[in-house]
Amino acid sequence: METIDIFAESDRQTLPGRQLAAIREAAPAFHDWFSATGRVRAVRTLDLVGLPYPTEYALFRAHSQIASPFVRITNRFLVVQFEDHDGILRTMLVGPTDVDLAGNTAYFEALGARLPGAVQSVAVKRYRTVPEHLAEIGLSPADIDYVTFDHLHTQDIRRWFGTTEPQPDLAAKGMADRNEPVEPFFPNAELLIMRREWEQFPGEHPLQRRWFQGRTYPAVRTDRIRLLDDDVLLGPGVALVNTPGHTVGNHSIVLNTSAGVFTSSENGMMPEAYAPEASAIPGLRGYAEETGFEVVLNSNTPESSGVQYNSMIKEKLIAGRGGAAGETVQHFCSSEMSSWWFSQRTGPGEIFEEITDGVLDVNPRAQRSPTRTRTRASA
Ligand SMILES: [Zn+2]
Repeated sequence: METIDIFAESDRQTLPGRQLAAIREAAPAFHDWFSATGRVRAVRTLDLVGLPYPTEYALFRAHSQIASPFVRITNRFLVVQFEDHDGILRTMLVGPTDVDLAGNTAYFEALGARLPGAVQSVAVKRYRTVPEHLAEIGLSPADIDYVTFDHLHTQDIRRWFGTTEPQPDLAAKGMADRNEPVEPFFPNAELLIMRREWEQFPGEHPLQRRWFQGRTYPAVRTDRIRLLDDDVLLGPGVALVNTPGHTVGNHSIVLNTSAGVFTSSENGMMPEAYAPEASAIPGLRGYAEETGFEVVLNSNTPESSGVQYNSMIKEKLIAGRGGAAGETVQHFCSSEMSSWWFSQRTGPGEIFEEITDGVLDVNPRAQRSPTRTRTRASA
């Protein structure tokens, strides 16, 4: 794991305007340097859950131009395989939400209480869980070397990384033993997370609190939690880059694929949030023209909007351009807006929905434990 210092100067800037200028200078250099490190071996994206999300969060203040009160978003996770600096094949999961437990987030509990059950059954669509997806593509929990989340909103990671003591609430749901600590589902995985994101528990800010499950963190086993202070290159074509604002310790996953460089986070809710001046969404283009804003923030937690704006410019300048016309900012939104709920008839513009690149190795630890003989297959 190699520290990257290209954004060191912009990270030091405390005035948002000067930080933005420093980012504009550094990000193209980062793109060029990063592209030359090499490519990931394989990427897959897997759908977890589709749900309604308030337009006033998804589209920042442009929402006042738009009639639909809700958009529809799909939350996904990524499976990334890459070679580390020693040439060892590594498997990383990006954003593997434990959907069974994410619904306990205070915001979603309150939303659930407001929406009648019949509406919820139509509005919320669950796809496979993380364990079901992994089984489907042929990976075992022991195959996973790293897990990372761009930020920890809604996450309860006790089942993934285990706990130091019994968890009565999980036991009551039949998810854990009543008398034993929770065993980690991923026995070999390290959690890669920014130190500032992790250390905010307990004591998260009131403006953020209802989006986190802060009470669940003190019990999590810490023997496989790796706290990061800097941007890091994990291997050729895979980096984690600080992009705070949406949360204090937010980061973006940056991947170099055969289609070019992708960034991924929840800072924006669809690719055109990174190019609103070209958007076909009624109201959004006019809003961008009127304000001169170059990005549209996912603004459920707006208290650090200037910093989040800067981070989105960082992503916009790091990401390549792709899509049908080769002009779409290649930002893969971890929760991507896919359509409107209720009154708006048109969908968003170009969305990615998936990244499929390379061939997943379904026996990725074979070189480290040669007795296993599962065959290599394309997924
Ligand atoms: Zn979030």
